[in-house]
Amino acid sequence: MRVHAAHLLVHTPPHNPRRYHAAAGLRRSTTAIFSDASQPPVTEKKPNPTAVIVGGGLAGLAAATHLASLSIPFTLLEASDRLGGRVATDELDGFLLDRGFQIFLTAYPECARLLDYPSLRLRPFYPGALVFLGAGEPFHMLSDPFRFPIRSLSSVFSPVGTLPDKLLVGLARLRAAATPDDVILSAPETTTAAHLEKLGFSPSIVERFLRPFLAGIFFDPRLDTSSRLFELVFKRLALGDNALPEAGIGAIASQLAARLPAGSVRLGSRASAVRESAVTLESGETVPAELGVIVAVEQPEAEKLLPQLPRPKGGSGRGERSTVCLYFAADRAAVEEPILILNGSGKGIVNNMFFATSVAPSYGPAGKTLVSVSLVGSFAGREDDAELAGEVVRELGGWFRAEEVASWAHLRTYRIGFAQPDQTPPTEPAGRDPRVGGGVYVCGDHWCSATFDGALVSGRRAAEALAKDSGL
Ligand SMILES: Cc1cc2nc3c(=O)[nH]c(=O)nc-3n(C[C@H](O)[C@H](O)[C@H](O)COP(=O)(O)OP(=O)(O)OC[C@H]3O[C@@H](n4cnc5c(N)ncnc54)[C@H](O)[C@@H]3O)c2cc1C
Repeated sequence: MRVHAAHLLVHTPPHNPRRYHAAAGLRRSTTAIFSDASQPPVTEKKPNPTAVIVGGGLAGLAAATHLASLSIPFTLLEASDRLGGRVATDELDGFLLDRGFQIFLTAYPECARLLDYPSLRLRPFYPGALVFLGAGEPFHMLSDPFRFPIRSLSSVFSPVGTLPDKLLVGLARLRAAATPDDVILSAPETTTAAHLEKLGFSPSIVERFLRPFLAGIFFDPRLDTSSRLFELVFKRLALGDNALPEAGIGAIASQLAARLPAGSVRLGSRASAVRESAVTLESGETVPAELGVIVAVEQPEAEKLLPQLPRPKGGSGRGERSTVCLYFAADRAAVEEPILILNGSGKGIVNNMFFATSVAPSYGPAGKTLVSVSLVGSFAGREDDAELAGEVVRELGGWFRAEEVASWAHLRTYRIGFAQPDQTPPTEPAGRDPRVGGGVYVCGDHWCSATFDGALVSGRRAAEALAKDSGL
């Protein structure tokens, strides 16, 4: 099994000595000691002052990237054996298995600034979806009428929403695309469900298309997620492609990790306490952090490490945002188009599925098809993977015929208990001040928006704040 991760060496000195010395002078007193006027000065050698980043997901990687670009020495401490956090791809028998269904939106502005898109070799999804409404019925296509006017004609009379709904989808995309981010992020907020109703969408299109589509993004089938997040993601969907990197979603993190200075990352290093100028590891070791500490861990862990963090109204973990992703190997793709298929029937446990090799053939070995199926929720109490996979295959037999799915072989099930923080209003997707006092900074998707871009923005802001406060 291969995991996309950069395996890095032990700490090395900073690569811009001039900057480093400025940093050294900032929080440390001079080290020259004169024992006797007739003797030459003896200089006590002190270790290099560094910043410490706790957590190597996208936020921690972005913070590291920015500190490196400012020539600020740092050590990134990552608890697990790989970088990337929630963004990861495993390889199994020639299949690429993303740890949960994740889509890369090319219109994310921070991603566009930080990542080298051509080398990700992005493979786009068709911008629309097929909707399953019930056994024996054909799938119904929903396309953007403004992007694909001819193709969308076929969906005009489909039972997925009314005719005005289909125009509204296109209009909402046009409006979102033309609205500046700061307007979206500061607009009065409500839940997505209330917002969709206010926009005039009929219950039919909400239940059959928008609910499963958005539940697959926010893992929130009640659509309680803030309308600001909905508008922001809708805008990104309108402005670019939804895609998969040819080497799996983990390639995004691997690309950032590969650029970090050698020796700046320590894997298998779980922080247990954060202080003003040091981090204590579970092993008991103390890692000095004279320049400051950036805490880039997921929300529940951040709340443990930093009890001073303000808790969201109603407490953290207000709503579960969990998913289960099951992978199957098949001999052929029942749908060869690179398209997402949604469960609009209101029945069953499958939320969405797609044939990953139809989007990116590199996701499977030659001649094989990779099927990706997502459920929303933790399915706690349903811990038997084989049993759950059996139920999923039986359900999908109603979508594609029992003979079609009979030969699917279960590859693996990923249960992701904490997929995203709760983004129910009130939210601050524009991002909060990373400074929490005492030379400690916070970032992560819970500090901005729960997207790749939100995590990256939050990491950059934490690094910028640390650099500014240190006068670097
Ligand atoms: C299944 C799934 C699908 C998603 N789909 C999309 C999508 O399609 N589009 C999109 O934009 N976003 C998507 N997201 C959201 C996106 O992946 C996250 O918002 C983002 O990756 C969060 O990055 P992060 O750095 O804030 O946190 P994380 O990725 O959680 O990183 C935190 C890191 O900190 C480490 N850590 C934790 N505790 C400690 C400790 N004590 N000491 C040291 N290290 C520690 C962890 O091991 C981890 O590596 C999805 C998320 C999931 C789970």
